[in-house]
Amino acid sequence: MPPKKLPKDVNPCGVFANNELDLEEVDVYGFDYDYTLACYKPCLHDLLYNLGRDRLIKKFKYPENISKLEYIPRFAVRGLHYDIEKGLLLKLDSFLQIQLESVYRGLTKIPDSEVLKLYKNRILPIAYVEGQSKNHQPNAKAKMVQLADLFSVPEMCLLCNVAEYFERNHIDYNPEILFHDIKSSVQSCHPIMHEIVMKNVGDYIETNSRLPEYFKKLANAGKKLFLVTNSPFSFVNCGMALLAGDKWRERFDVIIVQARKPKFFTDDSRPIRLYDETTNSHVWDRVSKLEKGKIYYEGTVKQLQDLTGWRGHNVLYFGDHPYSDLADVTLEHGWRTGAIINELTHEIETLNNVNFKRNANWLQMLTQLIEEIQDYECEPAQICLEKWQSERDMLRNQTKMVFNKQFGSVFRTYHNPTYFSRRLFRFADIYTSDITNLANYSVSHTFYPRRGVMPHEYISYFM
Ligand SMILES: [Mg+2]
Repeated sequence: MPPKKLPKDVNPCGVFANNELDLEEVDVYGFDYDYTLACYKPCLHDLLYNLGRDRLIKKFKYPENISKLEYIPRFAVRGLHYDIEKGLLLKLDSFLQIQLESVYRGLTKIPDSEVLKLYKNRILPIAYVEGQSKNHQPNAKAKMVQLADLFSVPEMCLLCNVAEYFERNHIDYNPEILFHDIKSSVQSCHPIMHEIVMKNVGDYIETNSRLPEYFKKLANAGKKLFLVTNSPFSFVNCGMALLAGDKWRERFDVIIVQARKPKFFTDDSRPIRLYDETTNSHVWDRVSKLEKGKIYYEGTVKQLQDLTGWRGHNVLYFGDHPYSDLADVTLEHGWRTGAIINELTHEIETLNNVNFKRNANWLQMLTQLIEEIQDYECEPAQICLEKWQSERDMLRNQTKMVFNKQFGSVFRTYHNPTYFSRRLFRFADIYTSDITNLANYSVSHTFYPRRGVMPHEYISYFM
């Protein structure tokens, strides 16, 4: 076979299109706050982990020895599924196939033979994974929960650490109870986490000098800006002052805090309320218009649309959570959507590594060779086939582990897009690693999706 030229590097600051998006048509830009405008330093994961672990001991009376279990950075990746019945953390692809060699009970990898014995199949039934899915949100009847936001990465590590502790000490436990206790512990720590972050905000939030510049660019082009976040005002105010200066509020036409997404996007009626900064509570007045400079909370997307007249494809909303930020606005309201996926920086750096490119290229060529030789029944061909297959297995694992030792890439299993990717590609018109990457494009830029090659088409249009 002729040697293949290695592909060019991918731009880590690129904005990637799943669907054509003409920014000329966008009059209104909306933003989520956490992990969209505010990107947290890795120490936030340590903080959330420690707070959740301590609460597990104090509130739920878990063994004191759990306090010795430290956070393991880079153990888990976003988008994994936890099987609440079997107590396993695993990665699914877009066909609901389990990625073998990446199934964990606690911190221990489960052999593929055991995985296949437990599930009887490599492909899981949709009802097992999603239950009776309603409103594009995970369902209570599902046996699996997907951990789809970055705040859930420390949650997954705590889950695995505690399960490992129980397994090693032969303590009987119920994986479903463990999951709910950990979830409740970590989530109920958010108010304490907010207090701690506000005291030393620069220690936790990455500053981004390009953010004010980007807001200014949009305002100068006559675009309207709004913020819809689940976080409380004091927390957002503190972080935004760091990111965009004390007068950050002047940049936004509407600010809605404690929105309770996804309910903000799915509920039919829940009054939008005015927030009183002096008393840190709401005032009783009916809200009949949304004014610049005021802070609102709760409400629904319907009221936001009715009171502003902003709707449909003229609105572009950015969020980091493919379901609670993006699914409903795109599917139900026809807004355009952008996903901010911080992990892209690491994923693209890995893709750009020359060794990775060589391995990925060779893996593809080897697979093609295997496909061609497999039907020759003579002995030398079969010996060769066996050798190539074991080399392919080794290469597949190598190319997986460079992203994350346990679970591989957020976006791919060995050769398919992950379950997370499929959702991301469906719900986000564009995606990028950082919101300010958008500042590199003009406000009338059109993002075009790549013309992907279908299995029945030519291998490449440039051959
Ligand atoms: Mg967010």
